[in-house]
Amino acid sequence: MRILVVEDEPRMAALIRQGLEEEAYAVDVVGNGAEVLDWVETAGYDIILLDIMLPGMNGLDVCRLLRAKGYAMPILMLTARDTLPDKVQGLDSGADDYLVKPFAIEELTARLRALARRDGPSKTLELRVGDLVLDTATKRARRGGVPLEELTAKEYALLETLLRHPNQVLTRDQIIDHVWNMEFESGSKLIEVYIHSLRKKIDDGRAEKLIQTVRGLGYRIGRDEPAA
Ligand code: CA
Repeated sequence: MRILVVEDEPRMAALIRQGLEEEAYAVDVVGNGAEVLDWVETAGYDIILLDIMLPGMNGLDVCRLLRAKGYAMPILMLTARDTLPDKVQGLDSGADDYLVKPFAIEELTARLRALARRDGPSKTLELRVGDLVLDTATKRARRGGVPLEELTAKEYALLETLLRHPNQVLTRDQIIDHVWNMEFESGSKLIEVYIHSLRKKIDDGRAEKLIQTVRGLGYRIGRDEPAA
């Protein structure tokens, strides 16, 4: 999952980035409301964390602008103010949820999981294909009920992205969009490296290989014969 964090206070932004990266999110940070649309047009963000009080353009106006442009990704508002009109305004501007500062990073990540569920293929914390199950809260995977070797943050992020689009070919660019941030160096072999290490943990020694390379196109996760 890739998140754009719109927050102008450097300390707060750094705390959020650290907390989210520990949870395997790919994070970009922008501090000026007027720049948000440019970022969103450049990358495929899964979720936007949006502070209300911002230089350039306030969060409410940013939210209205994104919705007016047709962007439908979940938006979670961050606000220092805890008054009813602010909450109502935030939701009316097109946000899906709001969180009042100060907050615990655990609450933030739980809200993000809830938003991803609302938007995603599964209404539970688990993503699955065949006998593979990934728990998005504990970040642990299992096959046929047997826990697999622990995943690194990037392996987890890659597996989660594939599982959110089961039986669908994802191109390299689509994978980069959801798993890496703006610091990704184009032309690098990182995707191949992580697909390789993920296969070792998911598919090695198993009759049914779930991660498939689609030559010239990208990768898909699914059963060999997708159920009709
Ligand atoms: Ca602010």
